[in-house]
Amino acid sequence: MKDANLTLKAHTEHQTLVNISPSVTVGGDDLLIVGGPCTVESLEQMQQVATHLASAPVQALRGGVYKPRTSPYAFQGHGEAGLRILDEVRQAWQVPVVSEVMAIHQIESMLAHVDVLQVGSRNMQNFDLLRALGQTDKPILLKRGLAATIEEFVMAAEYIVSHGNPNVMLCERGIRSFDTYTRNVLDLGAVVALKQLSHLPVIVDPSHAAGKRELVPNLAKAAIAAGADGLIIECHPVPEASVSDARQALSLEDMVTLVHSLRPIAAAVGRRIPEAGSIRQPVLV
Ligand code: PEP
Ligand code: MN
Repeated sequence: MKDANLTLKAHTEHQTLVNISPSVTVGGDDLLIVGGPCTVESLEQMQQVATHLASAPVQALRGGVYKPRTSPYAFQGHGEAGLRILDEVRQAWQVPVVSEVMAIHQIESMLAHVDVLQVGSRNMQNFDLLRALGQTDKPILLKRGLAATIEEFVMAAEYIVSHGNPNVMLCERGIRSFDTYTRNVLDLGAVVALKQLSHLPVIVDPSHAAGKRELVPNLAKAAIAAGADGLIIECHPVPEASVSDARQALSLEDMVTLVHSLRPIAAAVGRRIPEAGSIRQPVLV
């Protein structure tokens, strides 16, 4: 294991750039916009998402196949079958995909099918999982724990980086507080602090912070203004019918509108949303 504090800016001059595909790099001037459903439900659903979001444009798609549900009786995700759906869409549309890994035994098959492994909030301090991910070279999207301090968050990233994987993106997704009107409290102060403290890209997830779709667009804008390197946003062909997190899902049309509305905000803070996304027309379906 290498020295501690590898993620802290004081220890390095550079800003970490994470390549999630040959054409998509996170942490530079270009913002990363990721869109897609909470859960991969079917091939048709993911095909509709890819087709529609090509015009957003987004740089990557999201979709969970292993779902950390509060209730053990709720749908837990399609697992391996969901991975095959993701991979089919990823190859046909030539778009990188992000999906959550919940356990060490899932890593190996996920490495072959996805471009970014997401560590969910509930697993931010699953140190065995973090160590195992540190032994891969896959880009990791590490979400902040529901009640994690900024220091705990940075130290969780440190587990991955210190075990050999520098390709870590931090994701602020809201923290628990007393108010139930919003699902969580989006901590934009943490975004500013993490950008000053650490050299890792910082991504914001306004969907899980807000919990309500009507709050998502303005939180997304605020996140870009605060210096985030990207956004991960839940959207669905029929939002109300989403098998999980339906209340916070945007329609695909609203996702496209949102991405366009972010351009002037990005420009105002010296960032850019690439004109063309990374989704190509399918070569085979
Ligand atoms: C998700 O991205 O669908 C998810 C479960 O996120 P979080 O871990 O932030 O709750
Ligand atoms: Mn979700």
